[in-house]
Amino acid sequence: MTQPFRLALIAHDQKKDDMVAFARAYEQLLAPCTIIATGTTGGLVQDACPSLTITRVKSGPLGGDQQIGALIAEGKIDGLIFFVDPLSPMPHDVDVKALMRLGSVYDIPMALNRATAEVLVQKRGLLRDDATTDTLITPHASEA
Ligand code: PGA
Repeated sequence: MTQPFRLALIAHDQKKDDMVAFARAYEQLLAPCTIIATGTTGGLVQDACPSLTITRVKSGPLGGDQQIGALIAEGKIDGLIFFVDPLSPMPHDVDVKALMRLGSVYDIPMALNRATAEVLVQKRGLLRDDATTDTLITPHASEA
């Protein structure tokens, strides 16, 4: 029996506007998915995209990343889109690292930036028929 794709969404604070723009741009594609998100990310995306059904776990710094890691270990997540902020120190850095590790251990599709997320959700992926680099749809929040 097929089931909806179970997609986890997380964005660090400096990347939340990008995540909202991304979710808006792909709302139709995301709508059939079962979406699990960390608390704040999930709330923002839900407000911006009412057609999505989002289950929220705790906020990342309060254990949300670890909860999503546990779901990956249990085989309950099919893919992860995590807009990571590589320029800010994080109190929960170890949790983020652990989550990425589990994503690798269980070999789920895992996008850690917008460009890869776009490739992940677009039907034809990285090596499109026309093989150009013109794949990005959502502008960075700073470019919008
Ligand atoms: P948040 O958690 O969506 O609750 O802000 C994300 C994170 O910082 O890991």
